[in-house]
Order: sequence, then C-alpha cells, then structure tokens
Amino acid sequence: MSSEKSFVAPSSPHVMNTYGRLPVALSHGQGCRVWDTNGRDYLDALGGIAVNTVGHNHPQLVAALQDQVTKLIHTSNYYHIPLQEELAAMLVERSGMTNVFFCSTGLEANEAALKLARKFGHDKGIERPEIVVYEKAFHGRSIATLSATGNPKVQAGFGPLVEGFIRVPINSIDGLKAATAHNPNVVAVFFEAIQGEGGVNPMHMDYLRDVRALCDERDWLLMVDEVQCGMGRTGKWFAHQWAGIQPDVMPLAKGLGSGVPVGAVVVGPKAATIFQPGNHGSTFGGNPLAMRAGVETIRIMEAEGLLDNAARVGAHLKATLEQGLASELASGAVKEIRGMGLMLGIDLAKPCGALVQQALDKGLLISVTADSVVRLVPSLILSVAEAEEIAAILCPLITALLKEAP
Ligand SMILES: *Cc1c(COP(=O)(O)O)cnc(C)c1O
Repeated sequence: MSSEKSFVAPSSPHVMNTYGRLPVALSHGQGCRVWDTNGRDYLDALGGIAVNTVGHNHPQLVAALQDQVTKLIHTSNYYHIPLQEELAAMLVERSGMTNVFFCSTGLEANEAALKLARKFGHDKGIERPEIVVYEKAFHGRSIATLSATGNPKVQAGFGPLVEGFIRVPINSIDGLKAATAHNPNVVAVFFEAIQGEGGVNPMHMDYLRDVRALCDERDWLLMVDEVQCGMGRTGKWFAHQWAGIQPDVMPLAKGLGSGVPVGAVVVGPKAATIFQPGNHGSTFGGNPLAMRAGVETIRIMEAEGLLDNAARVGAHLKATLEQGLASELASGAVKEIRGMGLMLGIDLAKPCGALVQQALDKGLLISVTADSVVRLVPSLILSVAEAEEIAAILCPLITALLKEAP
C-alpha cells in the first residue's frame, strides 16, 4: 500500500452533486477488501453501508447471478415469478411471519409499511390515522419516509412534511403511553430495532416487549424497520428476535441482496390481507435477478454460518475496540461502544467526521454518523484477523483525534 494520494477524483460534471464524496474510486473487491483505481487496497468495514452481506466477489453469488442473467433479468408482476415464492418462503420461515411484498429499496419498503398502517386504520373506520415514530429515526428520503425520519437535516428544505406522525423518544414506554393517551387515531408504532443513521442506538429488550404488549392491547400494528439491522447482522436473522417478539410489519432491504437492489416488507397475520390487488405495486419489485440475489444470499449465509460469525467476530471486534480505547472510555472521551454483532457504533464526546478521511488514508473504509459516532457495518464474512486489523488502524486514529484541542 502506498500512502501518496496520486488519484484525484474528477469533479462530476454530470452526476448530480448529492454526496460529499471521498477522493477515491473503487474498482474491484475480494471478500472484505477493495482496491481503488490506483491499485491501492483497503479493508472494508463499511460493507457498502451494511449491504455487502457475503463480501465482494463471492464465487457462489457471482455464479448464481451470471446464471440468472442468461435466463431472465426482469419480467413483470403481471406474471407469476417462482423465485419470488422461493425467497418469500425463506423469509417467512426465518421470521415466523406469513407474507412478503417485494420492492427494490429501503425507503420503498418503509413506504409500503406506512401505507399498510394507514389502510389498516381506514379499514377500521379511522379516517385520519396517526403513526408513532421516534427521535433520531431514519427511514429514508422520500417525502413520507423523510417525514417519519427524526433528523431535521434530512427534512430541511422539503416541507410541507407529510402529516400523521407522532414523535416519541426511544426506550421510554411511559413516553409512548403519554404521547398516545386518549388518541383513538393511533394505528401503528414504527421504529428501527437498532437505529442506524441515528448513531447505532439499540432499543432495549424490555422496551421491545413492552411495546409489543401495548400494540396488542390497543390493536396497533408493530412495525420494525430492519432495513439496516436485519439480515443476520446482529447474529440473529432479525434484531428484534433477541427480545423474543414478532412484529406485524417488517421492512427489509440493504443486506438482503448482497448488493443487488432488493427490498421487502414481511408481514404477519394482522397485516397480511390489508393490501388487495390494486392497492400497491412496483415495476422492478421482485424481479428474477433481484430474487435470485436474495435466495443465494440466504443460502450462502446458512452454508457458511454467517449469523454465528457475525455474533462471534462482532463480539471480538467490540472487545478489541474496548481494550484499545480503555483509557478513553474511562475518561469519558469515548462515551460508549454500542451495538450487536457486526453493527457497532463508537460514540465519541466530540464530532469525528475527520476520521473518515484519516481512516481512508490508512487503508480502512468506515463511516461516521450522527456527527460523533464511528459506525462499523462490514460484511458478515469478516474474520477475527480482519476485526483485529480494523481495531489496530482505528484505535490510534481515535486516540489522536481525542487528544487534539477541541
Ligand atoms: C438505509 C435505510 C433506509 C433507506 O434505505 P434506501 O435503500 O436508501 O432507501 C431505511 N431505513 C433504515 C433503517 C436504513 O438504514
């Protein structure tokens, strides 16, 4: 690895300027490693933002996609698509839920969830349904999902926002009860089991069970956005399963297709028949290529024991980071290292966006979210040696950043 910055990213004259991009272009990858167009390699602790479940260039995934491309890429939902049946059955079995709608992205899965909740209300005579959402939540960037999102930066400039949301703080059952007291229009509670963009903030197990009980008592839908924390990342198929509960509606995307765009809304009996023909649809949703990616991702995850690997290597990574940052944790300069499995956040007492470029310079891909949280969401194939390499690069950078004058 050379550390000189010979590659200068061309400014993009034609691609719309919506991202603050790093000055690097990646050309290929293998496992948890990627190479840039200058041939320099990086350890990938970002995994395409929790997307590349089985790593880069996985031989079994590549072969399956190549085979599928020669058969059918896309037909239309005018026809039966057997691969949809196959992936739906796999998701139903692993979630314990009953039915699946396929789309292509996370925000679309969440839009479908919001439509389900509203129609659930209308079907029982509630004309102005309201949905409980959370502070620091992230659900996407469409008009409805950015309205559900609890981040003013995501919403700024796009008003008027969609109405019908009630916002509450995370992990407070009293807060939820107070915000919904005597409100007959509430139809659903909607949250991420572990908030991703909001800074890797897990819902407490007790809270998840309390919300499930309250939803049952009040006849509300429990809708858990598992777009980022689902698909094995925490060591179970879905993060809410650690609490032993089952949601009524569960949007999925990101890791479901290992990089091929696939979204899904998995529902239980309470939400299974809300949509009838004509209520919802998607042109690309559930197309054969996307479905093959989902089916093969799950097969590889099981063949290679990636749930166990995520739990085991994730715990090792967390312990190694805690060791490497022990004095910073003791002094409070590092507030906490949170998360489960391979969804970890290192919460610093000061903004740390500069770490992204510094880590890149040292050959490591990471992200910083919520201004002061280093987020690690690598592929689930990460090895113990790679976890130690992440910590070995990252800890000294964090230590140095915390020593700088504020
Ligand atoms: C990324 C994300 C989304 C949005 O997914 P897109 O595919 O970018 O639309 C929604 N919810 C959560 C929890 C996410 O992490």
